[in-house]
Amino acid sequence: MTSLQLTAKEEVLEKFLDAAARGDLDQVSTLLVHAPSLINQSGYSGWTALMLAVRNGHYDMAERLLSLSCDQFCVNGSSQTAYDIARFWGHRHIANLLSRTDGASQHVLPGSEVVPQENYFGRETLDRLSGKRTDEVWLEAKQRHPETVYLLFANLSPMLARSEAGEGEWGETRLCRFRHDAVQDLLLKPATILIFLGVERKKNPSSSSRSQTEDGPQEPPAWFAFNTDEDAAELLKRCKEKNCFFPKTPTRDLLKLSEDEAGVVAQARSVLAWHSRYSFCSTCGSSTRLEEGGYKRSCLNSSCRSLQGVHNTCYPRVDPVVIMLVVHPDGNQCLLGRKKIFPAGMFSCLAGFIEPGETMEEAVRREVEEESGVKVGPVRYVSCQPWPMPSSLMIGCLAIAISTDIKVDKSEIEEARWFPRQQVIDSFRGTHPAFVFPPRQTIAHQLIRHWIGINANL
Ligand code: ZN
Ligand code: MG
Repeated sequence: MTSLQLTAKEEVLEKFLDAAARGDLDQVSTLLVHAPSLINQSGYSGWTALMLAVRNGHYDMAERLLSLSCDQFCVNGSSQTAYDIARFWGHRHIANLLSRTDGASQHVLPGSEVVPQENYFGRETLDRLSGKRTDEVWLEAKQRHPETVYLLFANLSPMLARSEAGEGEWGETRLCRFRHDAVQDLLLKPATILIFLGVERKKNPSSSSRSQTEDGPQEPPAWFAFNTDEDAAELLKRCKEKNCFFPKTPTRDLLKLSEDEAGVVAQARSVLAWHSRYSFCSTCGSSTRLEEGGYKRSCLNSSCRSLQGVHNTCYPRVDPVVIMLVVHPDGNQCLLGRKKIFPAGMFSCLAGFIEPGETMEEAVRREVEEESGVKVGPVRYVSCQPWPMPSSLMIGCLAIAISTDIKVDKSEIEEARWFPRQQVIDSFRGTHPAFVFPPRQTIAHQLIRHWIGINANL
């Protein structure tokens, strides 16, 4: 990039921030149409458009920026969020907008409503069209359709491709997509498990040139995924893309996909992993048959109990996990722990599986006390994240501690500590970090940021 381009970019950013500070909705909207990424960029001392709008009391501007999904949890050079700024300058109605709360009664956990939050792996990229899973004729036709997309998994790892960014660096990582012709021999192998994922969502149907054909409206392309036990090196030769590979450590490589593709992988990998672990009927041990586009396994033993009534052994399982950021009773510290398997220096939220017959809130209280010795009172749900390693649903909560002494269960975690808000912010920004922040694709990262964002630094 030349210095000239850089200057032009900086100029646009300055114009944008200035318009936000003045409350000029028209100019902000126009600039965002041409450069949507401006919305979260910051200028002098880390101030974003939202912060400037809030500083100057422009409620409409703040509302517009929020409706365009701007990041309200950024912190500026003085470790203030937009919420902090609104409180500091006395713009109470804007502070309420940002925290979605009606008053200052909730000091520790402001915000009485849940702010919608999309987490990595959580995007519904495809329309699952679950009603079509029992339509075998439709599914068969879709499988052979030339526009249908197949994702290839070997040992539950999807085949990925990455582009070279130059100078030995890797750029974008994406899923390898196949057509029916290229994989039909693999689909015929008895060990192959094939599942229907859904169809592409229609994008702007009125402007699509191929939405109509002589046969009437054309359906959007369908997506399937399959797992094969064929040799990985041979499989890689099938792909026309350069630099294909199967990730050896899925928890690392799958986090490099786009949000859209991560959403597809979350669904595909979880269902395929279920098939790989539940090959036989768990009621009687007989063989099973795949049904409903891969969303059901029915026992082949006609006298099996599992064929009478509804049984959760027949459907893909999801394992609920609570993951919580525990906030100190003083509201200004949070409890983070580290497991031995974490990368050096990393601290994160505590987490654990929900047990049968347990509420989400009770699971939070039990897990926190078991792992850290800290007792928890109120618990609030924030957002959740499908985690397809193999099939967890991470239910993210904020929890308020009612005791503060830490006694760690060494079999579960190595260390747990109260971190002051300023240390958490410094760690998030990488300036004098007290600990290594969990990666942005994890719900733990989002929960901690959420807490930084709603907890005023006054
Ligand atoms: Zn059975
Ligand atoms: Mg546990």
